[in-house]
Amino acid sequence: MTTQRLRIHIQGAVQGVGFRPFIWRLATGLQLTGWVRNTSNGLFIEAEGPPQQLERFLEAIPIEKPSISRIHSLKHHRLDAVGYADFKIAASNGQLDRTAWMLPDIATCEECLAEVFDPANRRYLYPFTNCTHCGPRFTIIESLPYDRANTTMKMFDMCPACRSEYSDPANRRFHAQPNGCPTCGPHVELWNAAGHLLESTHAAIEKTAELVRQGWIIAIKGLGGFHLVVDATNGDAVDRLRRKKNRDEKPFALMAGRAAAATYCQLSPAEAALLNAPESPILLVQSVRNNDVAEAVAPNNPLLGVMLPYTPLHHILLRMLGRPIVATSGNLADETICTDNSEALARLGAIADYFLVHNRSISHHVDDSIVRLIADRPVILRRARGYAPLPISLGKTIEPAIAVGGHLKNAAAVAQGEQAFLCQHIGDLETESSITTLQRTVADFSAVYDIKPKRIIHDAHPDYASTRYAQSLPGDKISVQHHLAHIYSCMADNEVEPPLLGVAWDGLGYGDDGSLWGGEFFLLEKAAPRRFAHLRTFPLPGGDKAIRQPFRTATGLLYEMDAQMLERHPSLPPLQQLSRSELKTIVTLLQKGINAPRTSSAGRLFDAVASLLDIRHLNAYEGQAAMQLEFSAWEGETTHEVYPYDITFSTVTKYSVVDWQPMIAALLSDLNRVDKAVIAARFHNTLADIILALAQKSGMDRVALSGGTFQNKYLVEKTIGKLAAAGFKVYTHQQVPPNDGGIALGQLAALRYY
Ligand code: ZN
Ligand code: ZN
Ligand code: FE
Repeated sequence: MTTQRLRIHIQGAVQGVGFRPFIWRLATGLQLTGWVRNTSNGLFIEAEGPPQQLERFLEAIPIEKPSISRIHSLKHHRLDAVGYADFKIAASNGQLDRTAWMLPDIATCEECLAEVFDPANRRYLYPFTNCTHCGPRFTIIESLPYDRANTTMKMFDMCPACRSEYSDPANRRFHAQPNGCPTCGPHVELWNAAGHLLESTHAAIEKTAELVRQGWIIAIKGLGGFHLVVDATNGDAVDRLRRKKNRDEKPFALMAGRAAAATYCQLSPAEAALLNAPESPILLVQSVRNNDVAEAVAPNNPLLGVMLPYTPLHHILLRMLGRPIVATSGNLADETICTDNSEALARLGAIADYFLVHNRSISHHVDDSIVRLIADRPVILRRARGYAPLPISLGKTIEPAIAVGGHLKNAAAVAQGEQAFLCQHIGDLETESSITTLQRTVADFSAVYDIKPKRIIHDAHPDYASTRYAQSLPGDKISVQHHLAHIYSCMADNEVEPPLLGVAWDGLGYGDDGSLWGGEFFLLEKAAPRRFAHLRTFPLPGGDKAIRQPFRTATGLLYEMDAQMLERHPSLPPLQQLSRSELKTIVTLLQKGINAPRTSSAGRLFDAVASLLDIRHLNAYEGQAAMQLEFSAWEGETTHEVYPYDITFSTVTKYSVVDWQPMIAALLSDLNRVDKAVIAARFHNTLADIILALAQKSGMDRVALSGGTFQNKYLVEKTIGKLAAAGFKVYTHQQVPPNDGGIALGQLAALRYY
């Protein structure tokens, strides 16, 4: 049985209540080693032992804890064992004081919620109720230390009742910086789209509920920005929001009460715990058919993105409505979520009919986080509210640096000491708005943490907006190849050192040879890392156009197999998407090699197969075709069969090349004989098998998986299953996303090689 190490971070009322001795007794009773340490950020625990004992430890903490203690948040992740000899109560670490970090916002706690719905309480139906265990933090912090004067709450003077709570060490609101009440705190107002006041305070929420019920679109200012809200049971209202937001098929998030949410989706116990966690993310889960949620919320999608209300305002509104709402980011495509009242009126005026605003300013935008349970672990797909901006340990002190991230799903990071402060999700750098947000956020984090960076790290792609921004900053510039950054990110996420095999599969990234990479295998050795293998390349006719048009990608793939293929098999689904003249143009591009860049991308291979199987020919949003292919694979998942493939060695490049041609040929011959779902499952199984084959070839016994392709639950679970059965140790992401949202962490972690 392998020994594992568990790192746990507990926040809540866990200090001065006998919690450390309790942890010591529990840990030693289970024969675990490690330590427990009190900090002003809460309690940190490291426990080492067999996985089953660690499970029992985790389960027992909330059940057997001292009765006067209260756990509000318990986060954990798994690391390799370091070989602790015993279990210690470590001395408090004075450096980790409460004011040292900007902490994330936390969903309303049970005690505050009870007060909000208690008619006898002075905060009855007050939408800004919070305490030291819950409420806004990052979204109101202007500078450190975290004192009221350094937050956007500074404009509100506490009334005597609030002040006495704030000053009483025995009170739950002792030093709760955003403390307030109906007398002294922030208030809501309902405006029409012209910005005229219609209602204020509680009447504004009542009127909002009425307008939602009537089918109107309301822009609601929440914790980290505006949501656009409609009645999720009203298909016409949801369709109207889609048209106005210019968003065809990308799923909307659903906000529903706890009981209702449980009826809309199939929740495992682990998923239920995640949904109810203080981070309160949007959880991607299998939806249940036959309920009152409109199909237009997540069209043609077996998954639903569900979250619970996480501020008193959302709780009050949902209780009044008694039905779920769509709560999608209040922004225009690829722009940053709106945080300011007048800005929202200007930018969302053409979409929303009414605006429910408030007068507590938002100092940092924060979108809702998105999480999916993969291989029984939460995988963060979008790291924002609840998770950002908590730092990630780099394991050793590095010189101050800034990492600007990639292009899609951008998030930047700054390094100070041992910590990487990865900022909240910014988004695709496709608009001036998002580029400005990146610049502002980097400047803000640098100021808050007083970082004078010596080095600026950016992606190797010369044309990324993030690269150009990095070039404009003072300091030494360091370029890190995209897929290596993915692997470094996964290593930092798990605090592992070389040697290992890194598998980086994603959409497209700039390769060392200037071509488009995306199906890469790296050997991470003590010295410099090196590319070891890649998927066979094929041309993308039309270049960037192919990203949105998987039928183009499929056409390129077929042409690569056999130049005559396109003429010989005109009935293949991707070719059906093209007129004769369009096909002719594409063939000309391919023959002459004009605007047909070659790629080794795994993401594009998924696109091509989705089109070949007639599952999806267009990407209405990033990753859509690949996701539909995954959904199809689940329906055929009973199969364990794999297609053939070849691994050859290029004497020219010295790389092993995975030739997918035998797989595609077999898949094509299955096309009209075998159920599509079975073909999709076989395709996924084959890719997992390819990773196993390369792992065996690599001579390594550990494998790190990173890149957007590993957001695919089916692929990850199959791959882990095969690798683990063959004795490999597998690392996947735990604290940052496997997609490009985790790139900046990898860029900082890369500094060890420079
Ligand atoms: Zn609270
Ligand atoms: Zn007050
Ligand atoms: Fe990537």
